[in-house]
Amino acid sequence: EKIYVNGEIFSSENAKISVFDRGFLFGDGIYEVMMQLENGIFYKKAHFDRLQSNLNKIGIDYAVEEIESELDNLISASSLTDKACLIYIQVTRGIAPRKHSYPKGVSASVMMYTLPYSLPLVNPTHMKSILTADFRWHRCDIKSTSLLGNIMTNESAVSANANEATLVRQGLVTEGSHSNIFFVKDGKVITHPANEHILDGITRRIVIGLCKDLNLPVIEQAVAETDIEQMDEAFFTGTTTQVASIAELGRHVFYRNDQVGEVTRNLQRAFSELRSRDTAL
Ligand code: PMP
Repeated sequence: EKIYVNGEIFSSENAKISVFDRGFLFGDGIYEVMMQLENGIFYKKAHFDRLQSNLNKIGIDYAVEEIESELDNLISASSLTDKACLIYIQVTRGIAPRKHSYPKGVSASVMMYTLPYSLPLVNPTHMKSILTADFRWHRCDIKSTSLLGNIMTNESAVSANANEATLVRQGLVTEGSHSNIFFVKDGKVITHPANEHILDGITRRIVIGLCKDLNLPVIEQAVAETDIEQMDEAFFTGTTTQVASIAELGRHVFYRNDQVGEVTRNLQRAFSELRSRDTAL
């Protein structure tokens, strides 16, 4: 396995980052996860644009164009050209004595790796999710490497034998611990608006676009926890999650077996088609 660190490619044993890196000390960084499919990196531009806009939001002065050619080098050094793989990129504020305020004149640290990985061709079904308090901060739109709230809620799901934690803030469903959530009610598709309480997922945007193609009305509005049982269908979206049908959410059972609701099934099919066709947003 090869790792890119600040302009050089190392084997995983030799890749090293300073203990004074602000990513290590403060989680002061931004990350991206994307998938290379056989036909290219899926929605590469959307992922790079989001990385750039997140870096701008937290004032890390770095232009992501620099990473694009380096990523090609990493993929070929990893013998993954034209092969399915997962790509992880993180950019942190850099190395400086530990002090909260942003250091001056420090260059950002960039780390990336690839993992051979193929997404299942069939979108997941029968997801089980617990409901749990969304105790994260009020800037969940930032794809920060500080993920304590996400990992703690995810762990409570996994330890309850569920696949995902669905987060609830002030009575409203926001998103999953590592995915966005959608509901379907009377043929309409409902999801939380892309504000500071959720990450504006690339897959979320793709699915909203597919709804338009399929003439499904989309309502960007939060669903109340107390209204979950009124919903007809629910699914998670994410780069590695794809479009995952939810069978159980909290105490509500949508399906007892591998059944998938009609709207979810149509979106899963459209998403799979898009994967085999399109790689650019
Ligand atoms: N919300 C959260 C909290 C996430 O971590 C992720 C990414 N795994 C998503 C939503 C989905 O985003 P994307 O579709 O861009 O992968």
